[in-house]
Amino acid sequence: MENLRIPGPTPCPDEVLQAMTKQMINHRGPEFRDILNRVTESLKVLFQTKNDVFLLTGSGTGGMEAAIVNTLSPGDTVLSVSVGVFGDRFASIAEQFGANVTRLSFEWGKAADPDEVRRALQADPKIKAVLVTHNETSTGVTNDLEALSKVIKDAGKLLLVDAISSLGSINLPVDEWRCDVAVSSSQKGWMTPPGLAMVSVSQEAWQAHNSARMPRFYWDFSRAKSYLERGQTPWTPAVSTVFAMDIALKMMLEEGLPNIITRHARLGEITRQGVRSLGLSLFADEKYASDTVTAVNAPDGLNANDLRRIMLSEHEIVLGGGQQKLDGKIFRIGHLGWVYEVDISEVMAALKVALPKFRYNKAG
Ligand SMILES: *Cc1c(COP(=O)(O)O)cnc(C)c1O
Repeated sequence: MENLRIPGPTPCPDEVLQAMTKQMINHRGPEFRDILNRVTESLKVLFQTKNDVFLLTGSGTGGMEAAIVNTLSPGDTVLSVSVGVFGDRFASIAEQFGANVTRLSFEWGKAADPDEVRRALQADPKIKAVLVTHNETSTGVTNDLEALSKVIKDAGKLLLVDAISSLGSINLPVDEWRCDVAVSSSQKGWMTPPGLAMVSVSQEAWQAHNSARMPRFYWDFSRAKSYLERGQTPWTPAVSTVFAMDIALKMMLEEGLPNIITRHARLGEITRQGVRSLGLSLFADEKYASDTVTAVNAPDGLNANDLRRIMLSEHEIVLGGGQQKLDGKIFRIGHLGWVYEVDISEVMAALKVALPKFRYNKAG
């Protein structure tokens, strides 16, 4: 079997996959109601929130769009804090819907600096909301969301967080860190196939929602809330993915959130150590290196995609590539969700065999 080591979709346990073979049920009937209510309550535990949590059918990007169109109006000033591809995407969505976006971008591989965010907020009092990526999957960087949140929330701004590749894997206490909307997606750390986005919505986000005028229909939180009160979703949900998530969440709660977080921290550490012991270097600033995805610099003179090709054809290991300007320059190892030490040791053992097949300049 392939060792799928991309940062989503991630492998799923057999029990989770089996759940997807279940016959369809009425999504407006009592059985689905019980499942939806159970899934929602479990998500609240894992989001560490008492806020509303909604299950939306779509990918993570749909959840990001939902966060924006539900809280903002065209012409609103928004600060985008971006450290990579997904931060830029969040900004683009807001722009597309008519927000006036100020882009505060940091060098790829580095984390966002809370002091610079503070200065940007002080420079423009019109800023209403701030877009932050908790874990930037394209560069393998985890921002210090706690520190960023303090700056942003103490300034009274709305905080919209892309936590797609961190929630359920890396510690993110949504309420304690005052996230107004936090977004995740089923195919990342949740041991579930693609198809669902999950969002939490704070009281402040609801206030913003009441006056927000960006066009919204499919993603409307008001509709999601009124239907959830009846144990339903406004539109036909990805029923099979909900079945799968129900089982995955049961497994996650059995393991317990602190254990899940510790396991990912350990996997992150093992991956970084393994990479270094092969003489390779990390793309991300070590202090902020992610515990769900590790970005590795291709050695000088070696195209990362050539290495990825050999890893697949000779070792059945699928690694992530570099996105946009990082294409060919880095490869990424996903270690989130249903993943254990042996999965990472396999990657390291294969890299050890594959790397010497290439001629490149060994790091000096
Ligand atoms: C995967 C990912 C997304 C995009 O999610 P899709 O499900 O592909 O739409 C957005 N942000 C981050 C940080 C991600 O890791």
